Amino acid sequence: MKPQDNLDSFLDDLELDKTLDRIRRTIVVLSGKGGVGKSTIAANLALSLALAGKRVGILDIDFHGPSIPKLFGLEGQRVETDEQQKLVPLEFVSNLKVMSLGLLLQGNDDAVIWRGPMKMGALKQLLKDVSWGDLDYLIIDSPPGTGDEPLSVVQLIKNITGAVVITTPQDLSLSDVRRSLRFCEKLNLPVLGVIENMSGFVCPHCGKTSMIFKSGGGEVMAKEMGVDFLGRVPIEPDIVLTSDAGKPFVYYFSKSQTGKDFEAMVNKLIEKIETSTSDVSPVASQPSGDGEGEGSGGLCIAVPVSEGKMASHFGHCEQFYLYQVDCSKKEILSSKALTPPPHEPGLLPKWLAEQKVQLILSGGMGERAQELLKEKGIAVLIGVTGDSPEDVVRDYLHDKLRSGDNLCSH
Ligand code: ADP
Repeated sequence: MKPQDNLDSFLDDLELDKTLDRIRRTIVVLSGKGGVGKSTIAANLALSLALAGKRVGILDIDFHGPSIPKLFGLEGQRVETDEQQKLVPLEFVSNLKVMSLGLLLQGNDDAVIWRGPMKMGALKQLLKDVSWGDLDYLIIDSPPGTGDEPLSVVQLIKNITGAVVITTPQDLSLSDVRRSLRFCEKLNLPVLGVIENMSGFVCPHCGKTSMIFKSGGGEVMAKEMGVDFLGRVPIEPDIVLTSDAGKPFVYYFSKSQTGKDFEAMVNKLIEKIETSTSDVSPVASQPSGDGEGEGSGGLCIAVPVSEGKMASHFGHCEQFYLYQVDCSKKEILSSKALTPPPHEPGLLPKWLAEQKVQLILSGGMGERAQELLKEKGIAVLIGVTGDSPEDVVRDYLHDKLRSGDNLCSH
């Protein structure tokens, strides 16, 4: 290698790190074989995460049969570059961005023969050259099997969060998926869980599920292999119809039973990832104030914060801003920023109780966390909107918050 090549490769690595630094968690979606609904599930998981308030990106790295543009109705759309010559992902909704090799290769039907090293080079470029901005989750839809693409992704993205593995209940698919699980094991890629797709059939007339094939094999296999089972998705005619119409199923049917199943799977993922000790966050700037006086009268309010703004979800904030307020005078007496301890199940509620927090104002929070906080005697007001944590507290004091009841007992 010439010195210039070394330098170029070093600069590329720096660029890659810079892009990846803004992506907090990356999930690769794998399957043992094609046609099990991997892309369909990846698209619906990405949208369900976005519906849970996360900033999400989905990246389709299938060189030979990219289907994500079709699933999001983005086929044929042009990808623009920004002033830094980075590729601007397409927006499906404001907090869900899409990028696919299919969008970049479209109109180019010449048979390109991608060999391993070429794929690795193209993937590295794709990973470093997309201007995702800040993301809570990047979902990578990988081609079926254990080929060059998932291997390259795992090698290029350090600290990848883990893999979700899709199977169908049939024995053939189950034996293929075992290979995927062994692939993860060899690469030290954590398996976040297995999803069994096409598990039973939902009758479009009566809405009941019939087990036209067997079901439950995915769960048994997950148990045998010592990995979590996230849930099952039945064969749903509406999944095919909505996919063909260019919208993931949960876009229209988030309140259906299958929509709720997707929500439950995503909640399991969020819970598993965001309460893990390795889910560490960078440090945000501190608010002003001496921070004295919490618990010494008035009310102590905590607001989860990321990058100086109120975080949309309690579980993944970088810091908590604590405000000591006087509810009767509607005044903030003092404030301080605290970085929570590394996430471990149940640790955050305990720590907030130790800080004498009495009320949390938050955009969103999982049910389990709400229960744990309630047990610690901490009131929770969720669904709160706003950027500046201080303004949110002031709005609360002046009864101007748009959601929930005023929980101040003074
Ligand atoms: P893969 O990515 O594993 O190759 P796809 O996501 O492209 O699979 O899905 C293959 C086909 O199966 C698509 O036509 C899709 O609409 C359909 N499909 C996937 N999951 C379901 C489901 N749960 N119910 C009905 N059809 C489904």
